[in-house]
Amino acid sequence: MTYYGLHALQHRGQEATGIVTSEYLADKKKWRFNFYRGIGLVTDVFKDEEILKSQLKGSSAIGHNRYSTTGSADNKSNIQPFVVNYKAGNLALGHNGNLTNFHTLREQLQSEGTIFQSTSDSEVILHLAARSKKSDQIFQVKEALDAVEGAYSLVILTDDSLIAARDPYGFRPLALGKLGKAYVVASETCAFDIIGAEYIRDVQPGEILVIDNDGLATGKLQSHWITKKKSQPYHCIFEYIYFSRPDSKIFGESVDKVRRKLGKLLAQESPVKPDDKEDRVIVISVPDSSNTATLGYVSEANKMGDDVRLEIGLIRSHYVGRTFIQPGQTSRELKVKTKFNTVKGVIKGRKVVIVDDSIVRGTTSKQLVKLIREAEPKEIHFRVTSPPIKFPCHYGMDFPSKEELIANRCNSNIDEIAKELGVDSLAYLSMDKLLEAAPNGNGTHYCTACFSGNYPVAIDKELTKDANDT
Ligand code: SF4
Repeated sequence: MTYYGLHALQHRGQEATGIVTSEYLADKKKWRFNFYRGIGLVTDVFKDEEILKSQLKGSSAIGHNRYSTTGSADNKSNIQPFVVNYKAGNLALGHNGNLTNFHTLREQLQSEGTIFQSTSDSEVILHLAARSKKSDQIFQVKEALDAVEGAYSLVILTDDSLIAARDPYGFRPLALGKLGKAYVVASETCAFDIIGAEYIRDVQPGEILVIDNDGLATGKLQSHWITKKKSQPYHCIFEYIYFSRPDSKIFGESVDKVRRKLGKLLAQESPVKPDDKEDRVIVISVPDSSNTATLGYVSEANKMGDDVRLEIGLIRSHYVGRTFIQPGQTSRELKVKTKFNTVKGVIKGRKVVIVDDSIVRGTTSKQLVKLIREAEPKEIHFRVTSPPIKFPCHYGMDFPSKEELIANRCNSNIDEIAKELGVDSLAYLSMDKLLEAAPNGNGTHYCTACFSGNYPVAIDKELTKDANDT
């Protein structure tokens, strides 16, 4: 089941993957953790089914797909889940997000003699738990989480329980589901659908949810809470724009629904009109992440009386990963070229609207526009279902340094960005409309730092330096 869950969540990280299981050895009266981790996609790393059948035995499991935001992408010791065996037993951890005070904590721990196995921020949590004076593993984890800051959605396996925890701001999603008598947790609900589990609720911001035999027997799970000043949540709005799958529920709402609304509001704000009765505007999406928003755009444009037609003008090869997710500029540029092609007959002589979810560096967009130009359209109008990305993310999204972001390089001058991309017009969705599209979107419940620069949680000085150096 963990394997299938990871499979459904492959879009969240494609660098490496791993599974850890907890197995009770009745003859030895002790727990053993079995694990298997490797670089690559889920289907590649677990291509030998014997790994799942013979090596990964046990009664509970956690898995993780890696997408590096801190720690080197090709360092094998950074592959999660991390596992430790210490005085209180075994502990394994899978982390989604980014800790904002990990440099300070790491330095402190190192000065007190802790040896780190990886360069990842997530390892800090394990060391803090292992050093705790508390006797119960749950309270050791709680003590560790009270010390860390930033974004974390966690799955933690102890000898006899599974812990799902979320930072008090709820930056990253984490959902709880049920399958028969068993409980499952995952970043997105599409991981429940694949195994036939039912979505129950989200793990709440600040909640440390414990799934153990008592909970399974009584049907009542135990919740502990991170000791922090109660904050309002700051869910990552970029999950709705790009990162999550449209068939998932995120922060309790359907991603499909929000994405359609983003497209609808963009059509209202920045329509592209036909020149005359003979003219027909065609709208194409940048597949796959912009497909849903494009449907919203086209349907709203037609409602407004504009004669626009949805066309499949760009074909995406599904055998290369997402582009901005790939570490290192060289591989990114190479992959853009192998990822898309145009349907030339659809585009030729037409006024073309391209709908995309976001522009980060501009590398992909520029390359796409070049490809579309080769298909000889009359004009190209670029529409983006998010505001310009001007700031790096310190909460788990791998955006580059400020200097590499196209909106920054062009001083947020839309004409200049349009010129660099080579399009006839460019329009982004406004921040107001973005917040209108998100549920309860009054601006107080979402993190919008990559657009606005308003970081809800303070960032370690070192981390800002790293981001600028990357
Ligand atoms: S900075 Fe942007 S990507 Fe990062 S958590 Fe905030 S909204 Fe999400």
